[in-house]
Amino acid sequence: MSSPLLMIPGPIEISPAVRAAYSTPPPGHLSKPVMEAMSASLARMREVWRASADSQPFVFAGSGTTAMDMAAQNLVEPGDRVVVVSTGYFSERMASMLRRLDAEVEVVAAAPGDAPAPAQVAAALDRVGHPKALFATYVDTSTGVRVDPVPLARLAREKGALSVFDGVCATGGESFEMAAWDADVYLTGSQKAIGLPPGLGLLVASPRALHVRETRRAPVGSMGLDWREWQPVMRAYEEKRPAYFATPATNLVLALEVGLGEILAEPSFEGFAAGVPARVARTAAAARQLRDGFGALGLAPVPVREELLANTLSALRYPPGVDVSLVGRIAARGVTVAGGLHPAIKDQYFRVGHMGYSATRSDHLERTLQAIREALA
Ligand code: PMP
Repeated sequence: MSSPLLMIPGPIEISPAVRAAYSTPPPGHLSKPVMEAMSASLARMREVWRASADSQPFVFAGSGTTAMDMAAQNLVEPGDRVVVVSTGYFSERMASMLRRLDAEVEVVAAAPGDAPAPAQVAAALDRVGHPKALFATYVDTSTGVRVDPVPLARLAREKGALSVFDGVCATGGESFEMAAWDADVYLTGSQKAIGLPPGLGLLVASPRALHVRETRRAPVGSMGLDWREWQPVMRAYEEKRPAYFATPATNLVLALEVGLGEILAEPSFEGFAAGVPARVARTAAAARQLRDGFGALGLAPVPVREELLANTLSALRYPPGVDVSLVGRIAARGVTVAGGLHPAIKDQYFRVGHMGYSATRSDHLERTLQAIREALA
């Protein structure tokens, strides 16, 4: 049998070009290929994030969690008041991280499968008074719930707070307009819709966010995540000058240039402009194709309303009489999907990723549906 198809919500299948870029003998961190790949990647991140020219992208070894930590460590100080919009496991992780920094954390949560209404978030921002920042998970991978970042970014701005979006399960697969929406931090990890193996944290900070870091009262607790240490290095790399703070994951940096390049080279699709809009539309089309199939198989989504369904993954309730053993039966048919993750409903659903390279491969989508169909039969 061919190797299993990896259809979990990250890590995901990677393209042959990304794999080729990654699979080279490790280059030195100040070698020309790495400096050039880093320089191109930083510029491409601004394009994929739709961020302004004066925003600062950061590329660092780690994962999505490291990127969340970087945002929290740089922006939040003891006693700061912050609001977290909670749509599942990863929003709760964000809240825990912020509590470790001795912030006063106000969580606005919804039942699993739902998202708080913007009015509830507005009320929470008012309740805390002088909020430092609003944190939200664009797509919470534990529930498959996608929030609308537009009203959240606007509310943060109106209330004088920074807006920080966890795009770990979104960036490259859901539309995000960092500059137009005036968002302050948008972060992800390499192993999801960006289309790389795991190992990189990726984050873009607005000039406003960088200013908040520069004007902190206390030093950043984590030296390894401090923007003040990293920013000169990122600037140097962008100008292809050697600089060192901590060794980058060199093979992944080579792959990053290629992965971002593939997103930006996506041909126009269903009337959407080539590049990011086309890739997002293509990911949405992949989600629709799968969902038509899921619906026909009697699999209902965890998200409780149509507009909460993400492009990048589906969280699906087991039909009556079916339990967690379904995941193993799907695996036996050559497709790896993921079990439930949200502690309150863990054993009631499973998850299928459909982002990045696989969203551009209808054969991957067909194979996935076929395996689930047979496993249910
Ligand atoms: N946030 C979200 C929305 C995620 O899906 C994940 C990973 N599944 C994380 C954060 C944490 O990322 P990582 O596992 O790469 O540390």
